[in-house]
Amino acid sequence: TPVLNKYLASARPSATYKVMDRVAALRAADVEVISLCAGEPDFDTPLHIRAAAMAAINNGHTRYTQVAGLKALREAVADKFRRENGLNVQWTDTLVCSGGKQVIFNALAATLNEGDEVIIPAPYWVSYPEIVQLCGGKSIVLPCGPGSGFKLTAAQLAAAITPQTRWLILNSPSNPSGAVYQRAELQALAEVLLANPQVLVLSDDIYEHLLFDGQVFHTLAQVEARLQPRILTMNGVSKSYAMTGWRIGYATGPRWLLDAMEKLQGQQTSGACSISQHAALAALTGPQDFISRSRGVFENRRDMMVRLLNEMPGLSCIKPTGAFYAFACCEALLGKRSPAGKLLQTDEDVAIALLTEASVAVVHGSAFGLGPYLRIAYALDDASLRKACAAIRTFCNTVM
Ligand code: PLP
Repeated sequence: TPVLNKYLASARPSATYKVMDRVAALRAADVEVISLCAGEPDFDTPLHIRAAAMAAINNGHTRYTQVAGLKALREAVADKFRRENGLNVQWTDTLVCSGGKQVIFNALAATLNEGDEVIIPAPYWVSYPEIVQLCGGKSIVLPCGPGSGFKLTAAQLAAAITPQTRWLILNSPSNPSGAVYQRAELQALAEVLLANPQVLVLSDDIYEHLLFDGQVFHTLAQVEARLQPRILTMNGVSKSYAMTGWRIGYATGPRWLLDAMEKLQGQQTSGACSISQHAALAALTGPQDFISRSRGVFENRRDMMVRLLNEMPGLSCIKPTGAFYAFACCEALLGKRSPAGKLLQTDEDVAIALLTEASVAVVHGSAFGLGPYLRIAYALDDASLRKACAAIRTFCNTVM
């Protein structure tokens, strides 16, 4: 048998991609499926951003860029961090990567040694523990249930930190729960972190702009400036500007860390796509009205979805205040039988039965480290969302 790298061999393929593969297989067999498992906005990239990319192509910006990113884009990134997050950042304190995912990969690959621990509050984005695994680290998963609004508490963090702790990963607004950390909650975590100088923090702010109910966004480096030398603040254009396919993410953090990540990137991609970088530059420096428009659309959908889901027998969900996911508890369905008679023992059983019997695709919460839940992405038009909810409701009504 072929021999694989030991870290890769024991990493799991992305659970969300697995569900998407099931959807693709059903669709290939002409089954009409409504997919509520997408991790991306359903809008097109704004026109002025697309135009900037076409201009970049036509103006010959089709060559390698600096490994760390175009200077103009890094200046725009630094300006974004100053303007929106109050961080004191120069362009040289930034790094551009091929997606936020690569920022995370670079950071962990650049710093983890065998046995290093990474604290990951659950429910988590599926890629965190797998990237930790690929980089030879050890994930310390801390379950954060509805009692704390799916958020890590200072007491939990304090109890989990050891001399081997290298990183804490924070994600607000959260994929998959939609939970948002308030300023006071970040402050409480910061107190614990100040007492543990060996711990670095990855602040994954990718859903920053998908924030509802008039809330103000807070990021850890702004809340506690004394931690700034230990925080990698990560963001990207994927979710804010409907640019998932362009693959641009960026970060700011301590120079030593950015330098290490750049060194790695120099042997890996040589830097992000030049055309996408020009598009991201237009996104960050051009008109910003797309952000508030898409936030409004998602907020309305959130209201509708939470209402409809909570009306269904067997499902209940607390109102998420960010991102575009509802995280519904399906505990009341467990131990029962699906309309076609399948015994529902786990949240994955529920998700599979929903797909095969109701033609609605969702991802089971245990894929994100916390069951029994269903992650329901509402990055889809209202009519499709209503249709999906009607099908889920019929399913729930006939579960016995
Ligand atoms: N972080 C979280 C929590 C995400 O959900 C995603 C995408 O799904 C990413 C990071 C990475 O996004 P990208 O690589 O497109 O920038």
